[in-house]
Amino acid sequence: MHGPDVRYGGVTLLGSPEGGRYPSSNSLLIRGTEGTVLIDPSLEVDRRGGPGADVDLIAVTHAHEDHVAGLRLFPEVPVVAHPAEVAAVRDPETLLAGSGMADADADAVRHQLRDTFHVTGHRHVDAAGDGAVFDLGRRSVTIVHLPGHTAGHCGLLVEPDGFLFLGDIDLTSFGPYYGDLSSSLEDFVTSLERLRDMDARWFGTAHHVGVLDDRRQFLDALDRFAAVIDRRDETLLHLLREPRALADVVAHRLVYRPHVQQPFAEAVERRTAVLHLDRLERQGLVVPTPDGYVAV
Ligand SMILES: [Zn+2]
Repeated sequence: MHGPDVRYGGVTLLGSPEGGRYPSSNSLLIRGTEGTVLIDPSLEVDRRGGPGADVDLIAVTHAHEDHVAGLRLFPEVPVVAHPAEVAAVRDPETLLAGSGMADADADAVRHQLRDTFHVTGHRHVDAAGDGAVFDLGRRSVTIVHLPGHTAGHCGLLVEPDGFLFLGDIDLTSFGPYYGDLSSSLEDFVTSLERLRDMDARWFGTAHHVGVLDDRRQFLDALDRFAAVIDRRDETLLHLLREPRALADVVAHRLVYRPHVQQPFAEAVERRTAVLHLDRLERQGLVVPTPDGYVAV
């Protein structure tokens, strides 16, 4: 039993019982007259034992566990990813190191990668950067580099259908995630601006917002998503009306709700707080103190 597969022109979204919610995600199967590409083999693809079609190529938007969980089913199929993601797609230990966790937490996540996501790495991973085009016969897939979530995070444009896949620019109320070592708040904001200028018939996300088919609706969702970044700034500025140590800021949490006790939460909160504090400092809104930071 899995969620419905839905077709958008030559693109099939492989539905999951979770509706694309983490730990699952939305995989795409794209068929041309000469070849078939699978995008982001999810936990659902892994559960199904495959996507139900022969696959000639796999493209991965970025090396996060929920986007590579099904790779183990395709040991001989070539994989492409942005140059900045290749090493982490090849090797789960590189993926893990990218989160910058302390040893005890890293060990817990190492077990999740193995036991929940069955991440094994892959032997045939090549680099494909911004603008790389894969011709499938009467249908093409173009890589669109949209960094910030991770350094090499990419979207994909399928033509002539006009299906733009946004990967983990997932337009959820959770908001943008930039909690890895390679994440960048500045790049994320730039990627959101780039997307504002792009047109498509369908805008597909890797998680539960799914596919939007109206540009106005897409732009509104993009604005709401970007507004989460501003809310995190406001939360910080409010908190720093009194001087506070970084540890206090991290404990307050900008990203996860207090009940979320995942082993990666601490590292993600720390990284997110530091990116915001750096930006607010450059904007002259926050200054360092001997023990931490304060708003000015
Ligand atoms: Zn991700």
